[in-house]
Amino acid sequence: NSESVIPPDAPSGYSLKDVGGLSEVLKELKELIAIPLKRPDLLAKLGLEPTRGVLLVGPPGTGKTLTARALAEELGVNYIALVGPEVISKYYGEAEQRLRGIFEKAAKNAPCIIFIDEIDSLAPDRSAVEGEVEKRLVAQLLSLMDGFSQSQGVIVLAATNRPDHLDPALRRPGRFDREVQFRIPDCNGRKEILQILTRAMPLDGTVDLDFIAERAVGFVGADLKAVCQKAAYTALRRHVPSIEEKVPENMTVNQSDFLQALKEIKPAVLRSVEVEV
Ligand code: ATP
Repeated sequence: NSESVIPPDAPSGYSLKDVGGLSEVLKELKELIAIPLKRPDLLAKLGLEPTRGVLLVGPPGTGKTLTARALAEELGVNYIALVGPEVISKYYGEAEQRLRGIFEKAAKNAPCIIFIDEIDSLAPDRSAVEGEVEKRLVAQLLSLMDGFSQSQGVIVLAATNRPDHLDPALRRPGRFDREVQFRIPDCNGRKEILQILTRAMPLDGTVDLDFIAERAVGFVGADLKAVCQKAAYTALRRHVPSIEEKVPENMTVNQSDFLQALKEIKPAVLRSVEVEV
C-alpha cells in the first residue's frame, strides 16, 4: 500500500549517497526541513513559524521521489507517500476523507514526511477546473495544510513538473511557501549519476563514464538508469547468446555496450518535445 507509514529503519536501500548531481538541492532541503521535523520546539521558542510544505519542481525522472525517500531515511523520520492521480482514481468521492486520514496518520507518526507526487492533480487551479469534487479536494488540502500547525514535526514535500497549474492559494505563506528546483543535470551531474548507477555493475577497463556523460546531453537520472540497464542487457546477450549456455565467470559491461544503449534510449526532454509539437 503506497500510503502506509514507512519507518526510517525500513530496508529501502535509499540513501542520499544514491542521489547524484543534486548536492545543492539536498543541502537546501535538509536545511529547510531538518529543524521543523526534528526540533520544532526550537522554532517555537524563537516565535518562528515552521516550514510546513516545500514544492519540488522539475521534469519527470530528475530524482524528486528518490530525494524525498532518501531524506526521510537520512533524517531518521517516518515517511508516507501518495501519488495525486492515484488518490483521485482510487478514492473518487472519498478522496477528501482519505487525504484527511493520511494527514492524521502522519501527525500520529511524527516526525514524518508526507510525499505527494504529482500534486498538480490534487490541487489544480480552481479557476481552471469544472468539477465540484476537484474543487473540494483543493480546499481540503489547503485546510489540512493550515490545520497541522499544532501537530508539529510533519512536513509535506510535494512534487510537480507543472507549477503553473497549481492553485495559487497553495503557495501562500504557511502552505507551500518554499520551492526547490530539480533541473536537468549538467555534464558533471550526469557523471555523478552514472557513477552511482554503475556502482554495482562489473565494468571493464574500456568504460569511460566522462565520455558517456558528455554525450548524454538532455538525459535525466531516469534516462541514465535506462541507459545503464540497456547496456547491461546488451552485455548479457553478448556473453550469453542463449539461455541454455553456462554463464561465464567474468561477465563485464564495456564501452560499446553503453554507446549502443545511448543510441537507442531517447532522453525524456526530446520525448516530451515530440509530444508537444
Ligand atoms: P517523476 O516526477 O516521474 O516521479 P522523479 O523526479 O520523482 O520523477 P525518480 O522517480 O526519483 O524521479 O527517478 C526515477 C529513477 O531514476 C530513480 O529511482 C533513480 O534510479 C533514477 N534517478 C533519477 N534521478 C536521479 C539522480 N539525481 N541520482 C541518481 N539516480 C537518479
